Amino acid sequence: MTKKNQNDIKSGMVALIGPPNVGKSTLLNTLLGQKISIVSPKPQTTRNRILGILSEPDYQIVMLDTPGIHRASSPLNVSMVKVAQESLEEVDVVVFMVDVTFPLPDKEKKEEAEATKRLKKSAKPALLVINKIDLLPREKLLPILQAYEDVYPFQTMLPISALSGDGANLLLKDLMKLLPYGPRLYPDDIPTDATERFIVAEMIREKIFLLTGQEIPYGCAVSVDSFKENPHRNLTTIHATIFVEKKSQKGIVIGKQGRKLQEIGKAARFEIEALLDQKVLLKLWVKVKKDWSRNDGFLKEMGL
Ligand code: GDP
Ligand code: MG
Repeated sequence: MTKKNQNDIKSGMVALIGPPNVGKSTLLNTLLGQKISIVSPKPQTTRNRILGILSEPDYQIVMLDTPGIHRASSPLNVSMVKVAQESLEEVDVVVFMVDVTFPLPDKEKKEEAEATKRLKKSAKPALLVINKIDLLPREKLLPILQAYEDVYPFQTMLPISALSGDGANLLLKDLMKLLPYGPRLYPDDIPTDATERFIVAEMIREKIFLLTGQEIPYGCAVSVDSFKENPHRNLTTIHATIFVEKKSQKGIVIGKQGRKLQEIGKAARFEIEALLDQKVLLKLWVKVKKDWSRNDGFLKEMGL
């Protein structure tokens, strides 16, 4: 790969692809040094394509964080897997991520098989990233690496810890080798193409994932209804709605005497203030939108 123009740098698109919950969003945040993609211990936290822009003088990597690939049946989940699939097709290089929390490569694990199938179909140049090595004794790593040689012709295999950043620099170096020369695809002073409104809605959704149990997080969608900055007071007032699918979920999200909603609001406000570098007044409402995750019109409205 050679330079066409003098100003060309290593520049291209990379997709983070893999089964749910392996740490894709965590890795994007670690590489960016900033949180733009929400993270939780529950699968299927990420619903959209989240674009992160890693800009340095000699390279620009546009990295797409994607929803985990799984066997989807509901319209929302089908849409999530479609986002991952489309991202896979759009990029120069794929970072295929698995983690060490189950025996690898896990042929029994349907999600991983599904993700591998789609990778094979794409035939893209790919790096294998084995995440969460902080949870694994070193001597157990080699057999895992060897086993993945049969899965796909990966360019390299890298054990990393997305949480601690261990191995992240090696990953960037390997990616660089595979990227073409070209002009920057995005301005070099923005970390993402996502709007502040979108990230704010995501941060609220993350707190719901962290602070409610069972099916509640999957029944919630968040929209930011208004976003008003008051520069004189260094204050932003944000109104947002949490949509739930059933009346019973509404009661749980609000909690006894509104305590659960207060807890969600407080935790979200804390992060939103850091994001905006402003004091934030966050007002949350909970509304029932019956079976929204099966409602194509609503999904479209929510960008899903
Ligand atoms: P995604 O669904 O693939 O985007 O995964 P997330 O980034 O949301 O992470 C899923 C869970 O794995 C979260 O609880 C993370 O804190 C955790 N996690 C991510 N990376 C690491 C890691 O390197 N080590 C450990 N121990 N946990 C991690
Ligand atoms: Mg994610």
